[in-house]
Amino acid sequence: MSDRPKKLTSLVTVLVLVLSVVLITLLHYQTTAGGNFLLHEISQRLYYVPIVYGAYTFGTRGSVAVSLLSGAVYLLHISEHGHDPQSAILNQYAEVLMFQVVAVVTGFLAGAEKRQRRRFEKASTELAAAYKELRGTVDLLIRADRLKSLGELAAGMAHEVRNPLSAIRGAAEIIEKEIPRDSPRRKFVGVIEEEVDRLNRLVGEFLNFAKPRQPERTPTDLSELIESVVTFTSKEADNNGVKIVTRLDERLQAVPLDREQIRQVLLNLIINAIHAMPEGGTVEVGTSLGSQSVELWVRDYGAGIEPGTRDKIFDPFFTTKQQGSGLGLSIAYQIVKQHDGEIELRDVDGPGALFVIRLPLTTALAAVSSSPVDSGVTQEIKRSR
Ligand code: ADP
Repeated sequence: MSDRPKKLTSLVTVLVLVLSVVLITLLHYQTTAGGNFLLHEISQRLYYVPIVYGAYTFGTRGSVAVSLLSGAVYLLHISEHGHDPQSAILNQYAEVLMFQVVAVVTGFLAGAEKRQRRRFEKASTELAAAYKELRGTVDLLIRADRLKSLGELAAGMAHEVRNPLSAIRGAAEIIEKEIPRDSPRRKFVGVIEEEVDRLNRLVGEFLNFAKPRQPERTPTDLSELIESVVTFTSKEADNNGVKIVTRLDERLQAVPLDREQIRQVLLNLIINAIHAMPEGGTVEVGTSLGSQSVELWVRDYGAGIEPGTRDKIFDPFFTTKQQGSGLGLSIAYQIVKQHDGEIELRDVDGPGALFVIRLPLTTALAAVSSSPVDSGVTQEIKRSR
């Protein structure tokens, strides 16, 4: 609960406690002389209710405060209407003392119970976090195990498939040269070449995914790398009526990464973003320097990703596209993980998707940053629009 409602609840509780002591006192006074004896006796014990409630809500402080208030008004009552004989008066003083004893005991018990509850809550939060971490580790282990066998299979398969593919490609090129330029049959050879290229790419992607190599990190100008990928994808973007805009953090210096691998990641994300906007639009690619890491993001304004598919998109072979391999994001995931980084699909206001990659910086590079803020992507996008 935030501070204001909390304060309001406390104030209301205090009022309820004071009011109940006042009401009990009124009832007690009403039934004093010639009133209902039984009700008089009961009302005297009713003071224990706000005392216990005070303990439950405010701990010992609450119960003692209520018991002092109850004791004070009750003492006033005794002084005005104290009964003889002596034993009855003593009994009434003993009652006032009992108020204080009950207040201290219940306050102590309520405090102990509260501390215990907090301990349980903390333990339960820690347990949930540990469980989440364990699940992540188990997932990674399962993934790694699957990948190992998949990698061996992929290497063999790539070899078996690529050789005949290059033979088909070579033969198609020879046939193409022999077909007159104006012959409609040239189109069919074109189809063969395109499909062979597509299969080659697919085998390459599969190999990349199944047998990833360790990144070779060298200090890299990330801004320049992004610009070069943007230039590379500009034809595809043009064909789809998409404009790619870069928002690069100027403070960024060399980042230790495997240029080819991160290029692959960027390509996969940007191509996905372009394809997510068949009606055209803008894709934004940017960076944001933090104290310990650099964030790299790709934002599109396409159809976005359904809540039901969000947790599947990084799974290998998951695709919603007719010609998709479902490997682009899983390769990106793997490469980023191998760079000790994180990749996530972040929630956005409005349409489209925002993919954010966080890559760690070296300690020396971290000192370059003047801002201690790690994540500025969402604000960055909002500001730039
Ligand atoms: P592919 O592009 O071959 O389908 P990916 O692994 O790159 O494989 O993507 C998996 C799926 O994630 C896509 O089929 C698509 O449903 C979804 N996806 C990825 N990027 C985007 C995006 N920018 N907008 C909408 N959906 C996306």
